[in-house]
Amino acid sequence: MRGGGSVAVIGGSIAGCAFASAAVRAGAREVVVLERTLGRLQDRGLGLCVHDERAAELTATGALPGKIDAHRLVRRRWVVRDGAGAGSAGGHSAAAGGRVIWEQPFPFHSYHWGLLWRGLRDGMPASVAYRQGEAVTAVVRSGDRAEVRLDSGAVERYDLCVGADGYRSAVRRTVCPESRPRYAGYVCWRGNLDARGAAALDPSAGAWDDAVTTVCFPGGSCVVYRIPGPDGPRVNWVLYAAPPRGALRLDDPASDPTSFPAGRLSPELAAHLAALLAREFPPYWAAVLSLTKPEDTFVQPIYDLETPRTTSGRLLLGGDAATVVRPHNTSGAAKALQDASAFESAWRGAGSWEGLLQGYEEARGPAGRELVALARRLGRAQVERTPAWATMSERDVASWWREQLGGVAGIGGQSMEPTGGNSFE
Ligand SMILES: Cc1cc2nc3c(=O)[nH]c(=O)nc-3n(C[C@H](O)[C@H](O)[C@H](O)COP(=O)(O)OP(=O)(O)OC[C@H]3O[C@@H](n4cnc5c(N)ncnc54)[C@H](O)[C@@H]3O)c2cc1C
Repeated sequence: MRGGGSVAVIGGSIAGCAFASAAVRAGAREVVVLERTLGRLQDRGLGLCVHDERAAELTATGALPGKIDAHRLVRRRWVVRDGAGAGSAGGHSAAAGGRVIWEQPFPFHSYHWGLLWRGLRDGMPASVAYRQGEAVTAVVRSGDRAEVRLDSGAVERYDLCVGADGYRSAVRRTVCPESRPRYAGYVCWRGNLDARGAAALDPSAGAWDDAVTTVCFPGGSCVVYRIPGPDGPRVNWVLYAAPPRGALRLDDPASDPTSFPAGRLSPELAAHLAALLAREFPPYWAAVLSLTKPEDTFVQPIYDLETPRTTSGRLLLGGDAATVVRPHNTSGAAKALQDASAFESAWRGAGSWEGLLQGYEEARGPAGRELVALARRLGRAQVERTPAWATMSERDVASWWREQLGGVAGIGGQSMEPTGGNSFE
């Protein structure tokens, strides 16, 4: 499509920044980002990982700026609490650190959410109008335009409107009002701490510098890994398990999904976390997680959301607005950036707005739905219906993992290149 046209991007987080930059690269005349948050954007967590092959592809398309701090990870160790029969678990005693039941390659880099967002924001062309404190109340199809209504009462019209407004998207309410996030039946407690504190617990703790550790227990699992931070390296952890009965009312379809901001964990949820650590965790990992300050601890319900379409009229959905993928897939940020890249190439390859929207839906609709399905399988296996991990051989764990993949090459998102796969298992 020839250059020109005006584009509004609703939401200025990971997906929003990437879409705005992609629209400028593709030739949009005017690009506006409408972000409701004033000041610094709130972190939804802190750490995230991007598969190395996805990062290389996204750097090549321009969606991922190259100069963002990232920490290299190479392997993932699955550990259980009992120490029987093992020698050493990654440098510290098996009893304290748990028994490694399986180790697999993990070619990812970890990021600090705030540093990734900053890199995307700074990389945005100066021509983008990034307007903060602008809450969008509704987006309406209006002939061959998109009408954006703001809570200030203002109404603005654009040639195209991108919904990059996350899992409670206002744009999605117009594109597919029938789609709502569905509570998966469990939550994650997540937290982060200064990596120096963890290192002080055990002089050999540096041995897991390049590893993600997954602590496995009946009814849940927890991933722990290092991330870069603005003030030095941090340890990021995400623990998945069902909350205590009655502690949350999230399965009520009439209520909107909610999460608990950092530091505002109810005493019941904090006590449940402490009990899980004491009962299920190898002592070393329980001690590491216990170093987390209350203000650095969150609880987040886990949701699935797939949409039957990603476009309608002059509206288009990207990132978490289009699909909410359980985090086990380690693909959310990469998927948001891939959506932006696909948008740019659909724009370049199309002869009209309609062609652009159709090209985007063909490229990203099925890809998003596949990610949701894979993450649901991973969540069932790693949280809802956990196996008797402690009794499994390495071979058992490897085949249990392949079953979850269900023929998909690996986690972290699939290649956008027709010939590229995902060599990781
Ligand atoms: C527990 C957990 C762990 C995760 N781990 C990983 C991981 O390891 N790797 C990975 O790649 N991803 C991970 N993710 C997912 C990843 O963080 C997101 O998928 C990714 O950041 C894409 O987000 P987004 O920009 O689409 O949406 P969001 O980050 O939710 O941004 C939406 C933006 O829109 C704004 N907004 C919303 N409504 C309006 C409105 N009406 N008007 C104006 N502005 C509005 C919001 O303020 C916000 O800034 C994880 C997610 C969770 C929950």
